[in-house]
Amino acid sequence: MVKNMTNKPDIMSMTLPELCEFVKSLGEPSFRAKQLFSWMHAGAPIDRMTNLSKKFRERLTLEADYRLPTIEEKYVSKLDGTVKYLFSLSDGECVESVLMKYEHGNTICVSSQAGCRMGCKFCASTLAGKVRDLTPSEILGQVVLAAADSGERVHGIVMMGIGEPLDNYDNVIRFLRLVGDENGLNIGMRHISLSTCGIVPGIKRLADEGIPVTLSVSLHAYDNETRRSIMPIANKYSIDELLAACKYYFDKTGRRVSFEYTLISGKNDSMADAAGLASLLKRGMGVPCHVNLIMLNEVDETGMKTVNKKNAAAFANELCRLGQNATVRRRLGSDIDASCGQLRLNRNRNAENA
Ligand code: SAH
Repeated sequence: MVKNMTNKPDIMSMTLPELCEFVKSLGEPSFRAKQLFSWMHAGAPIDRMTNLSKKFRERLTLEADYRLPTIEEKYVSKLDGTVKYLFSLSDGECVESVLMKYEHGNTICVSSQAGCRMGCKFCASTLAGKVRDLTPSEILGQVVLAAADSGERVHGIVMMGIGEPLDNYDNVIRFLRLVGDENGLNIGMRHISLSTCGIVPGIKRLADEGIPVTLSVSLHAYDNETRRSIMPIANKYSIDELLAACKYYFDKTGRRVSFEYTLISGKNDSMADAAGLASLLKRGMGVPCHVNLIMLNEVDETGMKTVNKKNAAAFANELCRLGQNATVRRRLGSDIDASCGQLRLNRNRNAENA
């Protein structure tokens, strides 16, 4: 049973069968669990769960822990309607989520940890290290709250916010099962992407879970040396080992793997880099994959510089010319600093200076 700081059971982290047991332990019939589950996943406070008896609601208030994050800051893009949230958790830690509006529906980007210990050199989320893992209910709470606050249905999720999802493996898997439950948000695994810096054993484990989310792998370089200079995880697993794990993922799930490649000026953005990447993926993967090019979001502390739009497009064209399909990720919410890690960083900077 997932418990949190109050030592009361964290009921929003429970699967439906677990919630049935909990409800029965409070002397209620097990069908109440389904009602409670649906209410929580819709973000309702206990006193508004009107089809539960008053007595049961009182016991829940006393004996269960059910708290959604609270909205600390919220920014809405005037350009495209993207909403960025800074959520505060029960212990005051903060994480970010971004709700993005596409023609085919709304997608939310969620965080999986408060901070990150992966140390990628260009990333804002890892500058101060990892504070702690998020619980399943804290990850789910971001989706529930964004849906409730915006009044819109969330169709898809990307785990590309703060944190390394495969470094918080069990809680993330539990979250994925909860969010896919038909009694709750019922989001299909095909509408969920999980992004990892490349924790090889985690990728293999995920392949065997029977939850075929889209795997996004942060590659950022086609050779080990460059990759090691920007991503410490590359010292642990070579690119060959990483690609072998991706191939295993494809073989097990049938899902095309997506590679993220952040373009950093003078580091990995030359035409020779594009050729190296195309040839690596042809050689190493032997399975269909897509390259998602991201223009670096500059973070002052890192000193790294981004590329311009023309260079990004040229890089993408070169990959396509060489037979590797690739797109440049559209920047949503550019007027509200919508890339993850920056709001939390600013808030912590301000707290230090106060
Ligand atoms: N820990 C996961 C999720 C991180 S965020 C992972 O490493 O994949 C999602 C993507 O944004 C990753 O590819 C990450 O490397 C990239 N990213 C991080 N900081 C960035 C920045 N400042 N500019 C552009 N992309 C960045």
